[in-house]
Amino acid sequence: MSKTTSKIHGYAAHAAGAQLLPFQYEVGELQPNEVEIQITHCGICHSDLHLIDNDWGMTQFPFIPGHEIVGMIAAMGTQVKDRAHGQRVAVGWQADSCGTCEWCLRGEENLCAQSVATCVRRNGGFAEKVRVNARFAIPVPEVLASENTAPLMCGGITVYNPIRTAGVFPGSRVAVIGIGGLGHLGLQFAHVFGAEVTAVSTSPNKESEAKSLGAHHFVNSRDSTAVKKLAGSFDLVLSTVNQDMDWSAWVAALRPRGTLWFVGVPPSPVATHVFPLLAGQRSIAGSPSGSPHMLQEMLHVAARHKVQAITEAFPMAQVNDAMAKLKKNQVRYRAVLGN
Ligand code: NAP
Ligand code: ZN
Repeated sequence: MSKTTSKIHGYAAHAAGAQLLPFQYEVGELQPNEVEIQITHCGICHSDLHLIDNDWGMTQFPFIPGHEIVGMIAAMGTQVKDRAHGQRVAVGWQADSCGTCEWCLRGEENLCAQSVATCVRRNGGFAEKVRVNARFAIPVPEVLASENTAPLMCGGITVYNPIRTAGVFPGSRVAVIGIGGLGHLGLQFAHVFGAEVTAVSTSPNKESEAKSLGAHHFVNSRDSTAVKKLAGSFDLVLSTVNQDMDWSAWVAALRPRGTLWFVGVPPSPVATHVFPLLAGQRSIAGSPSGSPHMLQEMLHVAARHKVQAITEAFPMAQVNDAMAKLKKNQVRYRAVLGN
């Protein structure tokens, strides 16, 4: 086993909505299946903000947010055979799972009931180091830059999973609602899968960039007349927004067998009439992140097809400036902290 650290320094929230402050926590012996990662980059996902604000009632303070991590393996547990010291790896939302349930054995660890999230009741990646089960430390293809890879680990996989699972193909019509961290990657992956892509946004000034990222069409989601005109248009509507919208209108926008797929988390329950679901055999779905296998696949797809997060770099010490910009929907399109 390599030499490990005894304390990890990072930036933690101590109360709901609070600024992040320098913080350190003790770590014991490295577990046999763990790696310790020296972090170079960590993206800021909107879920970090939800956790800091305790929007989901699951946060225990103090905690270090961050779950879009890239870094080098600094130490390995005794049972880790398929990773190397100094290897560049990346970690997303999930840091561990039971490894023995049906879902883990099927390679769908993100559905494991014992799934451990990287920064829920645990300290994450706004730090110098982090420890995770080695299975969740995904090797990064050489051609990918670390700063652009970090956002793929949550933002990227979260949109890749539905596009892949829904079976998007060159004949598909896909709408992506919300062109932020997740959405700007969703446009790119839907384009790579060959779909006809529509960007749906509250920000008209994102139109030309959305089109350069792979969108064929751009719709202002606040223009209810334009949204109504989309009735019967899409095989997949992928919602990345964390706000309430007229979801009935988006069910109506589906073609027969189409799916309204939530990855963003709106504050209110989703209300829609059932009849349009029956009539066109339409569905409403959701998904959490993706498995280690799918993460690895997604990184290779991103490398091969040049899917790249557009990032704004911040030094780790300026994490609060980055969070403030994210709150105002001013980040284009993912803030990434660097050590
Ligand atoms: P983000 O970068 O802040 O992007 C969210 C986008 O939503 C914004 O860029 C904006 O796009 C749109 N938006 C903002 N205010 C809006 C409003 N009032 N009405 C409609 N749209 C609005 O956030 P993100 O990191 O992409 O995360 C988005 C959501 O996904 C969050 O709820 C996050 O917790 C969730 N998430 C889920 C998973 C999962 O596993 N399922 C994983 C990661 C994140 P426009 O300017 O284009 O309108
Ligand atoms: Zn996330």
